[in-house]
Amino acid sequence: MKQFFILFIGLFSLATYAQVDNVPQDYFEKPLDIPLILSGTFGELRSNHFHAGLDIKTQGRQGLEVKSSAKGYVSRIKIQHYGYGKALYIQHPNGYTTVYGHLQKLSPKIEAYLKERQYSKESYEIELFPEPAELPVEQGELIAFSGNTGGSGGPHVHFEIRDGSQRPMNPEMFGIDIEDNRDPIVDGLFAYPIGEGAHVNNSANRQKLRLIPQNDGSYTTNTLEACGEIGFGISTVDQKSLAPNKNGVYKIEASLNGSPVINLDFQRISFGESRYLNFLIDYEYYSNHRKRVQKLFKESNNPLSIYNGVVNEGKLEIEDGLDYNYVVEVKDFKGNSKTIRIPIKGNFAGEITPKDDKTTDYFTNYNETFSIQENGIDIYIPKNALYYDTFLDIQFMGDTVKVHHNDVPLHKNMTIGFDVSDIPEAEKEKLFIARINSYGRPSYSTTYKKPTRFTTGTRTFGEYTLVADVTPPSIRPVNFSDGQWISSNSTLKVKISDDLSGIQGYRATVNGKFILMEYEYKNNTLTHDFSDGVITETENNFKLIVTDNVGNVNIYEAKFFRKN
Ligand SMILES: [Zn+2]
Repeated sequence: MKQFFILFIGLFSLATYAQVDNVPQDYFEKPLDIPLILSGTFGELRSNHFHAGLDIKTQGRQGLEVKSSAKGYVSRIKIQHYGYGKALYIQHPNGYTTVYGHLQKLSPKIEAYLKERQYSKESYEIELFPEPAELPVEQGELIAFSGNTGGSGGPHVHFEIRDGSQRPMNPEMFGIDIEDNRDPIVDGLFAYPIGEGAHVNNSANRQKLRLIPQNDGSYTTNTLEACGEIGFGISTVDQKSLAPNKNGVYKIEASLNGSPVINLDFQRISFGESRYLNFLIDYEYYSNHRKRVQKLFKESNNPLSIYNGVVNEGKLEIEDGLDYNYVVEVKDFKGNSKTIRIPIKGNFAGEITPKDDKTTDYFTNYNETFSIQENGIDIYIPKNALYYDTFLDIQFMGDTVKVHHNDVPLHKNMTIGFDVSDIPEAEKEKLFIARINSYGRPSYSTTYKKPTRFTTGTRTFGEYTLVADVTPPSIRPVNFSDGQWISSNSTLKVKISDDLSGIQGYRATVNGKFILMEYEYKNNTLTHDFSDGVITETENNFKLIVTDNVGNVNIYEAKFFRKN
């Protein structure tokens, strides 16, 4: 009976391998009428997050028709300068939501709904939640035109499918078909001594392993000599058939002597866990080499849900005198795979190159808060902002503070405060907290001002100081000048920029009446579309007020004429 029970549990854990329940097939259609060529896959490793959808290339163009993937209604419209830019959310009767991002403009019906509300709020940035009856859509109905708005590096549509809890899922699981007959590419393999006294090839430090290609397309490595608790890490990408883009893989499995050790896949990733990407990858290696190595072991305080079967946190216990065979298999969604075989020889080493960790005066446990104050500068790091117990490198240098190194990730904001009680009011007004980047240039860190103390919250370690911005933003008309007739223009364009603290806001009026202008930060341009129909007079007095992040204001005024 007891044996039966153990067997039963064994089968059960195999059955739960497929972590996500059955998802509907053939329910969602592709959102564009062109062959799907991707510049990004689901789960792809990005800066501080896993990619939440598919990035569909639009042939280098904007203005392609975007269709609703299934029947439903527009449940959310979000327009922002950064992020997804112009984005549309469609709620479907089966509980799923589809998302379409970086749009150029929405379909005439939806665009009219949006503009009316942008004009009444007098803001380009807006978030709307229409009622189910307001904007119903059929499957395949035109909902928008593709674009490049927000944080987009080229024309494409960002497409997501979310479950009933708004957790993004891999659209390929729903039958959105992407041609792929290429194997994943492995371009880096590393061994990590983890436990006290552990070594790989007589070193306690990370070892890069040489990949030796085999005739069957797989790789092997030279035999590792190791002892104690060790783990591995892999740098791998996938290429689809129709594009050279280096996308994310779907699945990674590792086994030791034929028994599974760790298995991770990209089926569903909630936004709440996405930043833990920094815990999956060797962040220090990424910071210094711009290559993301995924660790094939998992620390106990890593809450990512991408793992399925994990034995002993994916770590191996290598014993002196024993031989092991560690195998990693990487797969894309279509099942194309790449295998790496790593022979390991358990060998106790007498002399080991010690870890090159540096100790400092400021040791902190990852699960405890840390705070320090000196020179009128205070630092507070909440618990669980760090992933590991860390010797922090903190240096107070006059009115500047260096807070550790930016090759260590922070999961939550730390707070840095500056005592400004001795600074004259007029001077104080122009000051902000800046992070000094590696080129020595200051960048604005959102600064909260109280009479005697300025604070900022930041998830980037590095050097911080107070910087003054005394120069107002600049404003330059692009397609008109003062006193001109511009009847044939379809838009009114202005360039705005700020040298130091950055643009905080802008407001444009014509003859005293608000006009909508879209801000495209990538080319510093504000654009008004005359087809909005709000400029109806012949003589028009245009006024634009632009404010930077410390409150410096520039006002630009010009007169233009239009035949109506
Ligand atoms: Zn995207």
